[in-house]
Amino acid sequence: MTRTTQTNTRVLDIVSLYPKDMNIYGDTGNVKTVELRARLYGYEPRIHAYNVGDAWPEQVDLVLGGGGQDKGQAVISDDLFARADTLRQLAADGVPMLLICGLYQLFGEYFETHEGQRLPGIHVLGVHTVGQDTRMIGNLVEKTEQCGAIVGYENHSGQTIVHDDGTQPWARVENEGTGNNGSDFTEGARKYNVIGTYMHGSVLPKNPQLSDFLIRTAAEHRYGTFEPTSTAEQKVQLDKLNALAQAAFDVASTRPR
Ligand code: GLN
Repeated sequence: MTRTTQTNTRVLDIVSLYPKDMNIYGDTGNVKTVELRARLYGYEPRIHAYNVGDAWPEQVDLVLGGGGQDKGQAVISDDLFARADTLRQLAADGVPMLLICGLYQLFGEYFETHEGQRLPGIHVLGVHTVGQDTRMIGNLVEKTEQCGAIVGYENHSGQTIVHDDGTQPWARVENEGTGNNGSDFTEGARKYNVIGTYMHGSVLPKNPQLSDFLIRTAAEHRYGTFEPTSTAEQKVQLDKLNALAQAAFDVASTRPR
């Protein structure tokens, strides 16, 4: 490798949080999407799969976490608490994070399962969640300030309420769909650059603007700026991915729940 190539290598260290226990309805597609798009923008993504008991990576530029069954959430709970200070510090430093469903709930204050078991959360986000007997299931289109319209698939028993301690709802559910709780038309939550959401799908392949928000914020956090260096060929690939994403968006957003 020449000296120039080494200087130009811009690594992004990406943590995939608990992929063994928290990874349902295709959430692993979020990691693959960010990995591919970051590379097409000229960055060198380094994926750290972090599972219960693993060593925590030295450098973290982006955290991606998926959903899980109630029992998967119980399995990771102690380990998540052991990492709570680190995650809270990273969040306060502006590191972008995307937490889907089960991990969204555990990044809040607590999740009480529909059987009454209370799992404490690490309280990065000012939300709490209580399970109910009826599950909320289906495709969902929502409007976000940051990234426009987003389509995804929700499947949860937990009803989430957003508190007001600097945490904002992430999106608004306009027509069909339940979102956080089925009554206040909010979906997800955001504080700092941490986004918690019920959107499975996987959500990132169908919503490139959200992937790009995470990649851009990760690059800015690490390097001060986001400077894509895509070649002509990489630009063509990005255009193809975006066209596919749009087609998937169109189908998913018109499908019945
Ligand atoms: N177990 C949680 C619930 O049902 C999370 C589900 C999920 O991650 N899809 O609310």
